[in-house]
This record gives sequence, structure tokens and C-alpha cells, in this order.
Amino acid sequence: MPGPPRGRHRESCVVIQSRIPQSTKMHGTSSRAGTLEQVMDRLDLRRVPRSSTALVVVDVQPDFMPGGALAVAEGDRIVSPIGRLMASGAFGACVATQDWHPRGHVSFASAHPGREPFDVIDLYGHEQTLWPDHCVQGSPGAELHPGLPLDRLDAIIRKGFYLRSDSYSGFRNNWNEMGERPPTGLDGYLRNRGIQEVYVCGLARDVCCWWTAQDAAESGFKTVLLWDLTRSVRPQGDAALLADLRRRGIVPLTVGGS
Ligand SMILES: [Zn+2]
Repeated sequence: MPGPPRGRHRESCVVIQSRIPQSTKMHGTSSRAGTLEQVMDRLDLRRVPRSSTALVVVDVQPDFMPGGALAVAEGDRIVSPIGRLMASGAFGACVATQDWHPRGHVSFASAHPGREPFDVIDLYGHEQTLWPDHCVQGSPGAELHPGLPLDRLDAIIRKGFYLRSDSYSGFRNNWNEMGERPPTGLDGYLRNRGIQEVYVCGLARDVCCWWTAQDAAESGFKTVLLWDLTRSVRPQGDAALLADLRRRGIVPLTVGGS
């Protein structure tokens, strides 16, 4: 069974693994996330066929952990509960996104002389936050977090590998120089799998999770953002974010596992 490719800078964005038979029980019923039955009740998953639901784990990578190149406060606290959810067998599909930038990427402040990280510039007519160099292809910080049960992933969507445009969402890139937001293929993958409901968790709540959830909802999936299995770069914006999610019909849900 191939794991995530290592040692080679690949630009292909989708890594698909064949399905691994899954246990129907949570790993350890004493986990704080509760038993599978409790989790399914909390997520209201019993009313739909398991095969129609997908967990999308956004950018859980070392560079976004405390001490990492683009640290999100408390990012490390969501790794274990997300791992338990992945291993629970509660979802028909488990997909991870992986931020995967070439050196000199347009989103890096270092690529814009005179600019600092967290400056905001105009890029092709849209705001682009400039970040510290992060998730550089092939670097340890760009790996999927080793604390996740990576063998439970059905697919890995790499994003952000075009030099001149960013990609926050797992579904579509940010705007490019032609004013387009090219798809990553995740929408088609989920549809071909018969997925109707998408559950988003990971990092960061107010950037890549938010954009992923927006695109999922716009694509017609019932979309749930697992609020406590995410953390924000700017937590002071969380109230406005919650209001925006609700306005878009995205359900913010607390799992109670972190
Ligand atoms: Zn990035």
C-alpha cells in the first residue's frame, strides 16, 4: 500500500489509495471523542448511508503546528481527535488536503521584496495575505502529520503547487492571472464516490477550512464544519466567521473531542 510520496517533488495533486477494510469501532472506547455510536449521534450520521458521507481533513501538517513555520495556536490539540475520527469508520470516505508549495511561491512574503509576513497585497484583483515560507514541497513541515492514521486516507489532494497562485480550498485554487479558480478534482472525486455530505476539519479554521467549506456548500454538498476540530490563525474573527458559515448554510458542529 503506497503511502504519501516521499523524496521527490511531485506536482500531481491527487494520490488515491484503494479502500482499506475498516473496523466499525473507535480505537479505544475510552477516547475523549467517545464511542463510535456517540460520535455518530453527535454528528447526526445515523440518518444517512455511511457511503454518502466524507471527512475532509484540511492541511494537518507540521508547519501549521506550534513551533512550525506558520504556527496556528493549539493546532496540535486537534491531531488526536481527528485521528480518532478518521479511524472510527464513521465516514464513507476520508480525504486529506496537503498544502504543497514550490520554493519562491507567490504566497510567501519572501517572494515580495520589501514585504513582511501577514502583509496583504493585491494579486490579480483579489486580496492575498503574504505568509512566512511554509509547506515547501518535500520538506518535513509539508508532510501530513505523522500523528494521523494515514492508512485510513482514501485520497490526498495536494494544493498550492502553482507558483503564481495560492490555493486555500481543497476544491478550487485561488484566482490565477486569468481570473479563474481551477478545480483540484476533489469535487469530481467525491461525486464519483456518491458522497452527499462533507465534514470539514483541520487547519486553519478561518483560512483553508473556511474556503473548503464554502466551496463544498457551493458545489451542492451538505456541509458541516467540525468547529472544535479546527483552530484559527486569527481567533478574534471567529464570531464573524460563525455568522458567515450560517449565512451560507454551512453547519458549525462541536464534536467534543479536543
Ligand atoms: Zn499555503
